[in-house]
Amino acid sequence: LKHTGSRLVGRHEEEPESDQHSFDFKEFLKMLIPEIWYLLAAVVCAIGAAVLNVEIPLLLGDVVNVISKFTKETAENFVNEIKKPAIKLVTYYSLQAFLTFCYISLLSTVGENIAVRLRTRLFEAILKQDIQFFDKHKTGELVDRLTSDVQDFKSSFKLCISQGLRACTQTVGSVGSLYVISPKLTGLMVTVVPVIIGVGTLLGSGLRSMSKAANEQVSKSTAVADEAIGNVRTVRAFAMETKENQSLAQMSLLFGNVIRGLAAGARVFEMEHVQFSYPTRPEQVVLKDFTLHIPGGNVVALCGLSGGGKSTVAALLERFYDIDHGKITIDGYDLKQLDPTWLRGHAIGFINQEPVLFATSVMENIRYGRPDATDQEVLEAAALANAHEFITKFPNGYNTVLGERGVTVSGGQKQRIAIARALIKNPSILILDEATSALDAESERLVQEALDRVIKDWKSQFIKKEERTLLGINKTTRIRT
Ligand code: ADP
Repeated sequence: LKHTGSRLVGRHEEEPESDQHSFDFKEFLKMLIPEIWYLLAAVVCAIGAAVLNVEIPLLLGDVVNVISKFTKETAENFVNEIKKPAIKLVTYYSLQAFLTFCYISLLSTVGENIAVRLRTRLFEAILKQDIQFFDKHKTGELVDRLTSDVQDFKSSFKLCISQGLRACTQTVGSVGSLYVISPKLTGLMVTVVPVIIGVGTLLGSGLRSMSKAANEQVSKSTAVADEAIGNVRTVRAFAMETKENQSLAQMSLLFGNVIRGLAAGARVFEMEHVQFSYPTRPEQVVLKDFTLHIPGGNVVALCGLSGGGKSTVAALLERFYDIDHGKITIDGYDLKQLDPTWLRGHAIGFINQEPVLFATSVMENIRYGRPDATDQEVLEAAALANAHEFITKFPNGYNTVLGERGVTVSGGQKQRIAIARALIKNPSILILDEATSALDAESERLVQEALDRVIKDWKSQFIKKEERTLLGINKTTRIRT
């Protein structure tokens, strides 16, 4: 309600963005003015219903008196005596139901009218914002404001006003009639009830803040689900499906440890007589009797026309799909024997044409490659990827939060963050799938420079301790190493 209240004024364009919006009562009252007649009619009906509510128990008392009198004595004039209070009671009940129906309908109409006005003004206000605003706020969040926030406001409005009205009129009426029956008991009630209400309010406000926190968590988890599902290839490529659903992580870690020793530095990568068609298109054979032999410590470029199957080779190496015939091995180990999660999480780094960045900090985006990496390791990976300099120029440096799908960074910067993310895994095999083809010349130069540095670094490491393979996939032969 707080949020919606501030949104409805439609003047947040000039206001600095802040999370602490206060409810604008003045604006709210202005919105109520056109509904004044409906509201007055609702108040009259509610007062009528409340008066009847106080009268009904007294009438019930009369009916009970007549009944108890005739159970003791003869039943001669029973019908005559009970007729009057009984008919009166039925009439009062009917009238009370009718008045309650009237005031709730009137308030619902007021709530609907206000919601329509609120939604229109909010929509107009959103459309007037500059593009920066849309970079900051997720589409889903804005649509949510239009739909569920306004809906929440409407429900709260109806609930508050109708219950408030009923509570006020009824309290005054009941206290009055109770006082006539017993002033002493009424006095006692008037002192005890406010204490109970006070405690209830305190508990209520505690619950409300918990519910707010829970709602925030729900929208965060919805955003994570949305990003994870929308970018499932990236999630898979970084073997993060286990992190995304927080389950079975320990098992894959165990298995990872067992085979880590085997493939710490890939010495040779081979594809032998591979045949493959995509499961959705079994009739189209993409790879037929395909062989490839890449010794460790080499940079290899796959060149060919678009649609020739270069990306497919990368997808197979990542085990996104299993081959129909033939064999793929790393250091002689059949890919099918290796745990795909370990393979993607530790052995292979993958950078494609359009890397996906998540709506979180630069630090977390890079750390996504290896969640246990220290801040220092993130910084080192960024430096190697030619990204450290521009990241430190961001307003919050490594803590800068990237917009929806990383829109606030340029293509070249995005690509270098993705390289850092792949490098932090310290993978044995690095696959670049047209990593620079979507960039302009300057960005391509910077990314290429980053890659050159990575290759140099790897080659020296390869000579020193481990063997590494670098598999480059490029549409043309413009590989520069
Ligand atoms: P390249 O990377 O050389 O441009 P790809 O490996 O992307 O080529 O594609 C090879 C062939 O496989 C193309 O004919 C393409 O249409 C088909 N293909 C690629 N991905 C899929 C997929 N997910 N499902 C079905 N067919 C696909």
